[in-house]
Amino acid sequence: MTLWEGAAPDADQPNFPAYARELLAHAGIAYRSTAGRAGLTPGGITLLTTSVTADEAGVLSAWVAGGGCLLVTADLGPLARLAGVVPGEAVSTAQVTVRDCAFWSQVPGRALRAIGGRALAPVDGAEALATWADGSAAITVRHHGAGAVVTFGVDVLKSVVRIQQGYPVDTDGAPAADGTAPIDDGILKAEDGAALDLDADRQMPAGQPALAADFRHAYPPPSAVPMFDQPHADWWRSLLLQALWWAAQEGGSVVPWLGYWPAGVAAIAHMSHDSDGNKPEDGLAALAAFAEADVAVTWCQVYPGGYGREIYEQITAAGHEHALHYNAMDDADLATWGWPQLRAQYAWAQAVTGREDIVSNKNHYTRWEGWDEFYTWCERLGIEIDESRGPSKQGNVGFPFGTAHVSFPLAAPGAETDFRDVLNLPLHTQDLAWAGHVAARDVILDAVQAQHGVAHFLFHGPHLNGKPLTRAACIEVAAEARRRGMPWWTSERINAWERTRRGVRVEISRGGDDWLLSVSTDVPVEGAAILLPTDVRVSGPAHSVAEVTRHGRAFAELAVDLPAGTSTWTLTR
Ligand SMILES: [Zn+2]
Repeated sequence: MTLWEGAAPDADQPNFPAYARELLAHAGIAYRSTAGRAGLTPGGITLLTTSVTADEAGVLSAWVAGGGCLLVTADLGPLARLAGVVPGEAVSTAQVTVRDCAFWSQVPGRALRAIGGRALAPVDGAEALATWADGSAAITVRHHGAGAVVTFGVDVLKSVVRIQQGYPVDTDGAPAADGTAPIDDGILKAEDGAALDLDADRQMPAGQPALAADFRHAYPPPSAVPMFDQPHADWWRSLLLQALWWAAQEGGSVVPWLGYWPAGVAAIAHMSHDSDGNKPEDGLAALAAFAEADVAVTWCQVYPGGYGREIYEQITAAGHEHALHYNAMDDADLATWGWPQLRAQYAWAQAVTGREDIVSNKNHYTRWEGWDEFYTWCERLGIEIDESRGPSKQGNVGFPFGTAHVSFPLAAPGAETDFRDVLNLPLHTQDLAWAGHVAARDVILDAVQAQHGVAHFLFHGPHLNGKPLTRAACIEVAAEARRRGMPWWTSERINAWERTRRGVRVEISRGGDDWLLSVSTDVPVEGAAILLPTDVRVSGPAHSVAEVTRHGRAFAELAVDLPAGTSTWTLTR
């Protein structure tokens, strides 16, 4: 496929269209980049993320008529006629309902939050695939000649980035009207910049009674509360991929992609532990709980103080990952927000744990300031994955940043690069039966499975130690994820896997009547999963094929152990 990009649009805005590259890279979909008509392949698929001239619109129109499939996420401009729509009002933020129709293989059971976009009025054979709250079209498809055009009136790339990364944090956010998320607590944290709407984008877990009118935020929660029940950013990502696979089917082409996890694994789980308080008895209680749960956790060590050498050694011996729990809560010298403080605490964590190459971090209390500056500090230190972005209040549990996938964050406007080299690993709830109601557990697991991501549950030693219900919830969630076929991985394992798979290149080319699938990697990869249409026969080096469902669509999963170099298979239809 081809990605047709323009120059960065606004100097004062993040380069949202560039996020198409991250979205495709995470799916392992190879593409050719072009900034004009040169990259168009007859009968191929093009994702257009920039506005075009009238001349270019003419070229695209002829290309579509000849069998090309065009996916547009940019403002239509002169393409409106080809798309068969009349562009209407710009939308800053609103909910979108995705139609349950044959075009999509999987649709969300709720309206999705869109950040930016434009209302569309279908006029000339275009069909609405999703609608804004006022009934105007938000996504359309139109057949033209032998090809088709899919138009995202929703600014889908901006929506994904804003939902995941939010707005710069420089002041407290507004609390939920129902009292369940009092984020106006005088502490700057990730939630203060969140783009999802606390009042409109949450839902009570199924089967729970309505929220009491006099609800007060307390620990443990007096009842279940509305939660971010669906990962909105993942849904937008999924809808764009679904459109791509629809286009491939429509045009008879093959768009192979790389499974998010090893072959046979549809989704995973991650457990982290924060050493708040650093009391040896809490550390020992956590070690015992995780041994009973049979989970290797990412153990985030918080400054100041420490457990003492013996417990750090036990954490290492039990197979847990030593990570940093950066403290900017102003409760000690060096415990404030800033690069020198982070650097000092990283050195402290290296010294007390004995682990030199710490790669993971979570910020204490989900502290955050600014937009991407924190990631630049991580880059300088060698922190390769950060799991700070999640809920600090009960009503923010679930998917407050709309995702269950790891991703590389977009850089701020004017940066020297488009992306930060730090994976964002989202956090979904803190201690079940204490900071998050137990009813949230299965809502999280269900949604993560539906999006093939990673479910992240955080626990604290003091709660595993003193609170039997939280300890029981820890053991139970470990068993429940395993029962669902979700293995527990540490943050460093997730980081290593994602960075390895980003180095795998999956390419497809025509070889006579057949297709040639070549997969290249610099390092061997065991158990890679290449997803293909179900109607192809595969021949070539050792492999197995199983039918799986991903994003609601049936795929043939080619399971292979990749040696370093290039491996090639022949696909026959
Ligand atoms: Zn903490």
